[in-house]
Amino acid sequence: MNFYDSERMTDLLKPHGYQLDDNEDDADLIVLNTCHIREKAVEKTYSELGRIRDKINLRKENTGKKSIVAVAGCVAQAQGKEIMKRSPWVDIVVGPQSYQNLPELIAKVDPIKKNVNINIDFPTIPKFDHLDTNINERGASAFLTIQEGCDKFCTFCVVPFTRGSEYSRPIISIIDEANKLIDVGVKEITLLGQNVNAWNAPGPDKTIWGLGRLIEELAKINKLEFIRYTTSHPLDMDIELIKAHRDIDKLMPYLHLPIQSGSNKILKKMNRKHTAKQYLEIIEKVRDYKPNIAISGDFIVGFPGETEDDHQATLQLIEQANYAQAYSFKYSKRPGTSGSVFSNQIDENIKNSRLHEVQELLRSQQISFNETTVNSTIKVLVLKKGKKNNQYLGRSPFNQSVFFNSKNKNLIGSTVDLHITEAFQNSVAGEIINDY
Ligand code: SAH
Ligand code: SF4
Repeated sequence: MNFYDSERMTDLLKPHGYQLDDNEDDADLIVLNTCHIREKAVEKTYSELGRIRDKINLRKENTGKKSIVAVAGCVAQAQGKEIMKRSPWVDIVVGPQSYQNLPELIAKVDPIKKNVNINIDFPTIPKFDHLDTNINERGASAFLTIQEGCDKFCTFCVVPFTRGSEYSRPIISIIDEANKLIDVGVKEITLLGQNVNAWNAPGPDKTIWGLGRLIEELAKINKLEFIRYTTSHPLDMDIELIKAHRDIDKLMPYLHLPIQSGSNKILKKMNRKHTAKQYLEIIEKVRDYKPNIAISGDFIVGFPGETEDDHQATLQLIEQANYAQAYSFKYSKRPGTSGSVFSNQIDENIKNSRLHEVQELLRSQQISFNETTVNSTIKVLVLKKGKKNNQYLGRSPFNQSVFFNSKNKNLIGSTVDLHITEAFQNSVAGEIINDY
């Protein structure tokens, strides 16, 4: 979602004379877009700020030019005052729901007097209504945020506090943005939301549409070849979306469905409102409708009160679900969440060893999944050049990284048929059969 927000900020600033630069050394404006989901991400913000300060001081010394520095994203939202205290040289602090105001905030930066412009409001009119409608160059694959915020209040999670309450964008603005992305050459769109499958909005027929119906509508866009979405919540997984996986060829066979823990006791303490059995039943149903689909998930180890039995229940659930890929994290205490004051916080060493066990199991499942794709033929959108000569990288329908060789100089953005020849831990290798 931060990638999407960064791209939209770039679109927004272009009419004001800014253009994207890979090099911060001589940048007039540096926007640090931040994540607050785990403590590590916050620490990273402050260390990045230290690094940026050195760069802008050097630029000032060498050229006399002052760079404007803005901190955006969820750390800005949650720690705006703290940033102003710890890094008073920062010019702008702007939250994820108010970055549409960035041009005004930049215009207000006073080059001599030091005052921080802060805007961390949750506006009543959603930012999407104010975002510039221009879309710039994106490459072959792009993100499109359709849903933001969350009302579920899992006890470990800061999202409801930093991104605000659940909001679904209207269909018309989603279709409009998708068409604009296609116009700049995009072939694959990943629909984004904190709980993307909670998306719902009135359709042209005045009934309430869910994500499955939206995907069906987007699939009608001719030049749009691949559709993905992330992240889904088990409670919002409806039959329409499951059927969309069976019926819509452009929808990629990949479902990211986090559960966090395999223990019902911990799920309850996390306020997830579903059991491990209900989660497994959803996966079973998805596989009934779409047997050849890659399932992915998220896990948190060491949530307060997690016993060895709870941990074993998580390992057992992983065995039963059989993931193609999954993300796992140590529980990180987040200020303001109810979990942060729960008793029985887990010792760091225990968290480390549990994380190791979970990751080992997930790793073995991932490699097994990758091996099942060897000898198959898949359609791949070529995304970029690889490190080696003549090497290209793309993503398989199952969201695997794929690499292959071709002497063709101009394959980026095209679709190729690949015969998968070899499987690795985090990728598969293929040989090109034909390009379209
Ligand atoms: N809405 C999605 C998840 C969004 S947050 C869902 O409900 O499943 C992305 C992931 O970050 C979560 O799935 C969780 O695994 C992880 N995460 C969130 N808060 C965390 C915390 N306090 N400590 C560790 N991991 C966390
Ligand atoms: Fe966070 Fe997801 Fe729970 Fe919402 S549903 S509070 S985003 S983990």
